[in-house]
Amino acid sequence: MSAPRLGIARPLLAWYDGAKRDLPWRRAPSPYKTLVSELMLQQTTVATVVPYFERFLARFPDVAALAAANEDDVTAAWSGLGYYRRARHLHAAARAVVERHGGALPADEETLRALPGLGPYTAAAVASIAFGARTFALDGNGARVTARLFGVRASIDRPATREALRARGLAEVPAARAGDFNQAVMELGATVCAPRAPGCAACPLARKCVAHAAGEAARLPVRSPRRGKRLVRVACFALVDGAGRVLLVRRQAGLLAGTWALPTVELEEDAPGEDAARGVVRELGVTAGRLVARGEVRHIFTHRDVTAEVFRAQAAARRVRDGQGARRWLAPDAFATVGISTFTRKALRLALD
Ligand code: SF4
Repeated sequence: MSAPRLGIARPLLAWYDGAKRDLPWRRAPSPYKTLVSELMLQQTTVATVVPYFERFLARFPDVAALAAANEDDVTAAWSGLGYYRRARHLHAAARAVVERHGGALPADEETLRALPGLGPYTAAAVASIAFGARTFALDGNGARVTARLFGVRASIDRPATREALRARGLAEVPAARAGDFNQAVMELGATVCAPRAPGCAACPLARKCVAHAAGEAARLPVRSPRRGKRLVRVACFALVDGAGRVLLVRRQAGLLAGTWALPTVELEEDAPGEDAARGVVRELGVTAGRLVARGEVRHIFTHRDVTAEVFRAQAAARRVRDGQGARRWLAPDAFATVGISTFTRKALRLALD
């Protein structure tokens, strides 16, 4: 893919100067704000992230405050934003910055890459936006925009295509304003070069864009065929004590690791949820009253479509057998103090209503 530069920096930056949105991480920017916003924005829209970002910054105003926080406080502040691994990565990165770099985020892309949870995209984004490094940060959004701009017909899901797009994107990055260039590509992808209906008529790069010239903008980028979502059935069990507190367990693994959830078990095909819920009660070693079926909740994750049968029972005694992982009884008005996923919130609502 040895092709000439398109020379997009000048029109792109001129457009960005007039069109960029006023976002909280762009006001009085700092490396810490850049890091938090970049992690929050992965797989999540700007509109969703803004209130979370503002609350998170109010709670953890700098790297030192985040590093000193406990895991529950961090996951609580992230609750509802999904992809909880990002919260754990951010927390671990803040601790590493304090331990290894005296509390100051390193400016160098390679050193940023060595922080826990920072992949090539995040390290490049922070290095360029916060420190002006001449690098190109390529995420899914940038891959779509550059595949169209350069007219690339190979699948953007292939690592070789991504690497080629990154190299061609890097060739376009100006020595000055590298951070603005990267943000401008992201902004263009979010507001003009949209996934389904690219707004070529309003695009500052229309005269440079290979896909637009070829009339292929809406057909690019090419994606590899995806496997469908896995259908999963689970049973969740709300055990409630005499004071209305609910037994929650901390998830140890998977997408929701670190969050607090109802005891949950995956169901074999066609297995009755009630039997499984009884099994959970036995495993917990609790004495519980009659099991009441409360109905079902459904939640779509990236790769899974989960239907949960929700059960509730009164606990006769609060003693719970020791097992793997943390367990705690929590009153509903304390749910906001720990990290609870949207999926668990739905199940709790159904169980407790
Ligand atoms: Fe995207 Fe169209 Fe602009 Fe090309 S001209 S970058 S396809 S919006």
